[in-house]
Amino acid sequence: MKKALELIAQSLQEADSLEGLARPLLNLLAQVSDLDVAYLTEIYASRGVQKVHYVQGDGPLEIPEGLEVPWDDTLCKRALESNTPFTNDVGGCWADSDAARLLGIATYASVPVKYADGTLYGTLCGASLESKTVSAQAMELLKLCAELISNQLEREAARKEALARAQEAELQIKQLELLAEISRFCLGAQTLDSALQFAAEQLERAEFAQQVGIWTYSDDWEARGPDSIELSQHLRELVHDCSEQLQAIVRNEVEPLIWFDAGKEVVLLITSDEAVEGALLLIREASFDEKANNLALLRNIANALSLLAARLCDHAGLDRLNRQLEQQAFTDALTGLPNRRALIDEFERMLARAQRQEAPLYIAFIDLDKFKLINDEHGHDVGDEFLREFAMRLRSNARQGDFIARYGGDEFVVLAPGTEQDNQCTSQTIQDRFSTATEGRFELPSLQLEYNGPSIGVVKWTPGAESDPDKLLQQADEAMYQVKSARRKAL
Ligand code: GH3
Ligand code: MG
Repeated sequence: MKKALELIAQSLQEADSLEGLARPLLNLLAQVSDLDVAYLTEIYASRGVQKVHYVQGDGPLEIPEGLEVPWDDTLCKRALESNTPFTNDVGGCWADSDAARLLGIATYASVPVKYADGTLYGTLCGASLESKTVSAQAMELLKLCAELISNQLEREAARKEALARAQEAELQIKQLELLAEISRFCLGAQTLDSALQFAAEQLERAEFAQQVGIWTYSDDWEARGPDSIELSQHLRELVHDCSEQLQAIVRNEVEPLIWFDAGKEVVLLITSDEAVEGALLLIREASFDEKANNLALLRNIANALSLLAARLCDHAGLDRLNRQLEQQAFTDALTGLPNRRALIDEFERMLARAQRQEAPLYIAFIDLDKFKLINDEHGHDVGDEFLREFAMRLRSNARQGDFIARYGGDEFVVLAPGTEQDNQCTSQTIQDRFSTATEGRFELPSLQLEYNGPSIGVVKWTPGAESDPDKLLQQADEAMYQVKSARRKAL
């Protein structure tokens, strides 16, 4: 017995698995009890079977490892239920067991192996073809070994649990890192497209999904990447029936995830405050599941990308507004022509260009004759209609490269680049062209009227001459005034 205890102590010390402990104990049991075999079984109650895991012993009875037998037919069940851990008259005791009869078992010993909570794991047994007496000491040893195996089961369960917890913690850290990376990128990103690309790469690299498709959405879904056409088509089909859900996602009423294919495919929709701006399609071999925290990660990634989409959308709106304001600042609201500010800007540029090209620039100053009369006779609104129509005629009679502006009130300016060789572009031809275009019948929305034409003064600037726009405009104004005086006299 002393030797047996020493062997048990050694087995306990060396065992790093259930098998590592069970085999030496079974060996010992077979020797001490003098039975043919000793073996450890596990009971699978749900399937109603008992499975033989490990067998030791060198007697004539052979029980194969891995053998599964119906639990109801086993000697172990009978021994347990009748509280008979030992018999050397199996035939007499349990004649109804087919398995025992077939194997020819005469002697049988069995004790339960339980988990710490008392539930049954299996049994530790010994059996022999011959009818033998097993000593009380050997039976005690059997019970002791069953307890040792119970403890080992407990240790293994605890180890498994600790391992699972460690793996879970590692997974969570990985997921947090992934989210942090994507969020950081989103903070500095200038386009949604680049952030979607980045998120897709990270998700694939972390093996979070086997395949990731990317879309941006404007009028239709537009995909990126090598599988883009196929994936685009796929997404179009997927979201085809989901338009209501899309709207609800934009309104933040439901979460931005749409599931397909039993959880193996998920579309993350990226929204600004107004619309769906893009999407990621994640395809996995295994389903996504809430327990592994996958879903929280997906929601957070969708949120980070949506915040970026909203920010970019706000910026685009602001840029649009700025451009509009800028345009308004340089445009005359009534006629839509460039205003005086725009004229001065453009004047400088056209002078510089003409200087480079060594070509002349003509400055035409146009002031409506007796415009007040139109206002006085027909009202200010008709005056406005007239100014609009007048501006339109100037515009449609300009040559390519001409710049037309409303200088103020009833005054307009045309800057016309020319060449010395071009006899269609001289002070006289410019004056004639715009005079002809702006006199005669005016069909206004409110009424028709005959108009006698404006006064137009044109000055020619040549390279190297005075290039101050204000001075040149003043010269053109003076030229116009001379024309006006002459016209007045002619009447
Ligand atoms: P002249 O023949 O000497 O050029 O005289 P005019 O009647 O054309 O009057 P003038 O050029 O001295 O003054 C321009 C007038 O145009 C003054 C103003 O009442 C009118 N006017 C200026 N801006 C607008 C506008 O935006 N709409 C309308 N309807 N009238 C304007
Ligand atoms: Mg006038």
